[in-house]
Amino acid sequence: MNTRPEADRYPVRVFEVAVSRVQDLSATFRRITFTGPALDRFGVEGPTLDLRIKLLLPVPGHTLSRPGAPDGTLYEGWYHDWLRLEQPGRGFIRSYTVRAGRTMAGAREIDVDFALHPHVEGKSSPASDWARAAVPGVSALIIGPEVAAQTALPSEAGIRWSPRNAREVLLAGDETAVPAIGSIIEALPADFTGHAFLEVPDSSDIQEVSTASGVRVTWLPRNPAKARRDELLLDAVRHTVSAPGQTGPDVVPLYAWVGAEAGTAKMLRRHLVNEIGLDPKVSEFRGYWSLGKAGSGVNGTPVPAPELCTS
Ligand SMILES: Cc1cc2nc3c(=O)[nH]c(=O)nc-3n(C[C@H](O)[C@H](O)[C@H](O)COP(=O)(O)OP(=O)(O)OC[C@H]3O[C@@H](n4cnc5c(N)ncnc54)[C@H](O)[C@@H]3O)c2cc1C
Repeated sequence: MNTRPEADRYPVRVFEVAVSRVQDLSATFRRITFTGPALDRFGVEGPTLDLRIKLLLPVPGHTLSRPGAPDGTLYEGWYHDWLRLEQPGRGFIRSYTVRAGRTMAGAREIDVDFALHPHVEGKSSPASDWARAAVPGVSALIIGPEVAAQTALPSEAGIRWSPRNAREVLLAGDETAVPAIGSIIEALPADFTGHAFLEVPDSSDIQEVSTASGVRVTWLPRNPAKARRDELLLDAVRHTVSAPGQTGPDVVPLYAWVGAEAGTAKMLRRHLVNEIGLDPKVSEFRGYWSLGKAGSGVNGTPVPAPELCTS
């Protein structure tokens, strides 16, 4: 029995859910809606913005060893203990974003938009493979924040979007960051301006995203331009963003949020910090996946900048 007071409870837990709907949005995106009574305890106060969750996936045909207690409770350091488990019981953890959440006929639901990357013969992609095969009724395990949590969320399930007092913003991402950028700009109030660049594989991947803000949304589909991955995104940022004007010592003139393949995020960081002069400690640069490398890690790869020596 868990006798720890509510305030001391680790604010992230395992939620048992089931797929309630599957919707192919476009050539790349498949929206999976999860539901289940456990979700009554899931979430954050206010908009979910770029709230990340983890999907815990079994090795096909094998039983998953769940991290933490049988009731879903986790503890600080659970991820490192999970990493020490042997396969096939350990399974896989992949990071995803809550695209939207709602209550339907008294039941909580969350949408997760999977960018299905191409299947490479002989290589598994546990999350994309799982999403391709998902049908209503299939059960799943999600690691995410508990709504009643009194403490700040740890890195594996938190919100990174934090523009402080900046009202001019730059959002730049590839298909894996489309759910996060879509969710952020839908929540932005009218006094925000700037640009959101979303590079996607196919023109069918362009989505309707409404915003009360003045942020200009530009979709960059690769296929009509026959562009290579990251070419359009890098060009768009390089040609659009100029040095922001500084208006005071504590003022953040431009806040950048970047989520993309790790090498792309690194190039964007280099440009925005070295050429444009953004403060890397204020903005958010994150590798959402790594070319040729499986797994998104517990939290995405923070993009290093040895030349800037940030900790
Ligand atoms: C905080 C965070 C939030 C995220 N949110 C989302 C989200 O909402 N939706 C979403 O689709 N993704 C999201 N991602 C990215 C997702 O976690 C990765 O793409 C993940 O690696 C996919 O897992 P997989 O099992 O399908 O492939 P893996 O087993 O991780 O990779 C298998 C192979 O595919 C390659 N690969 C992985 N991802 C891609 C890709 N997107 N395109 C091309 N090749 C790829 C790898 O380099 C590797 O060679 C997020 C990542 C982070 C860190």
